[in-house]
Amino acid sequence: MKLIEDLDVRGKTVFVRVDFNVPLSESGEIRNDTRIRASLPTIRFLSEHGAKLILASHLGRPKKFDPAASLRPAAVRLAELLGRKVEMAPDVIGPDVDRLKDGLRDGDIVLLENVRFQPGETKNDPELAREFARGVDVFVNDAFGSSHRAHASVVGVAGLVPAKAAGYLLKKEVEFLGKVLHPVKPFTAVLGGAKTEDKIPVIESLLDKADDILIGGAMAYTFLAAQGKGVGKSLVEPDKFDLALGIMKKAADRGVRLRLPSDHALAPSIDSGVIDRMTGEYPFPDVLLGVDIGPKTIATYSAIIGRAKTVFWNGPLGVFENPAFAEGTMQIAQAVAASPAVSIIGGGDSIAAVAKAGVGDRIGHISTGGGASLEFIAKGTLPGLDALEG
Ligand code: ADP
Ligand code: MG
Repeated sequence: MKLIEDLDVRGKTVFVRVDFNVPLSESGEIRNDTRIRASLPTIRFLSEHGAKLILASHLGRPKKFDPAASLRPAAVRLAELLGRKVEMAPDVIGPDVDRLKDGLRDGDIVLLENVRFQPGETKNDPELAREFARGVDVFVNDAFGSSHRAHASVVGVAGLVPAKAAGYLLKKEVEFLGKVLHPVKPFTAVLGGAKTEDKIPVIESLLDKADDILIGGAMAYTFLAAQGKGVGKSLVEPDKFDLALGIMKKAADRGVRLRLPSDHALAPSIDSGVIDRMTGEYPFPDVLLGVDIGPKTIATYSAIIGRAKTVFWNGPLGVFENPAFAEGTMQIAQAVAASPAVSIIGGGDSIAAVAKAGVGDRIGHISTGGGASLEFIAKGTLPGLDALEG
């Protein structure tokens, strides 16, 4: 994979796919600009080296033109962060956009409107990809969080330009997540959260690499229930019982220590905000559900994390949005931060949990891609990365 600094970009028209898919408030204000900030090194490098920059991104999931999904707020924020002008295009493609592109001088920056305003984007329509590629000398992908999608602005356009390269953010993501693919041992994976279905392929691939897999969150109850343990009204996915049993068997066969929580915080409901009891005994009372890992589990998991040389964490260990049920997640965040291991965290809620614990600056790498980071670990590559090769 070529990097932007391997190319001579002065005077060249460079199409950069960035990930400005930022959360907006109802009034259209940017609630968190992490993703825009993460793209600054690439944009600065290209602009300072005299490229004519066309930036493209999606925002949300609009199917057609929708002012509420406009990237204009991102253009304003980017201009503030860069301290230089960023021209906002009135549309994704079309004659008005072409005029803007033609008027670019070396170092100038234009941001196209939300690429998903064009229905061809998600279909990887060759027509749209050709529009993106027209007049472009170099395609740069710096949108790791979108690289698991074979879309026109991520994959299609890459095949139609004279040169292509990775931006700094993409390179950093691939480097760090690559440490999970080829981990320094011992390697501990901490997996929690609710979306068991999405995480099963990741657990499968981690079975080849991990020494310890620590399970928490709602996912733990699917594993425990699959073993026949009564878990009250905990969130379980009965159609995943066979998969869960299969994973436990494979782990045992390969000598991977897959651990389930040994105690739990039980509550009458997710929004009760009150812990009824801590227990390691089954069955749970029918009227209670598991909302967090208990103190014994916290101690066991923290000790394992402390001995690891590589840690990958995805998914909170409890219903951390509620402070009463956040103890497990906060303690594990502290353990990951305190561990000498290279630590890598992915997943939207996991990132929020790390921020809440205030340990973000003690984590090796916080991935900007949720789905993309999981798919990269499961498959070892992504469509958007493959498109940069050759
Ligand atoms: P990520 O976004 O980091 O990939 P997920 O989206 O898979 O994580 O899971 C996060 C959600 O899982 C949170 O909303 C959290 O409240 C929920 N969760 C964690 N533990 C439990 C539990 N024991 N019961 C129900 N929901 C849980
Ligand atoms: Mg989530």
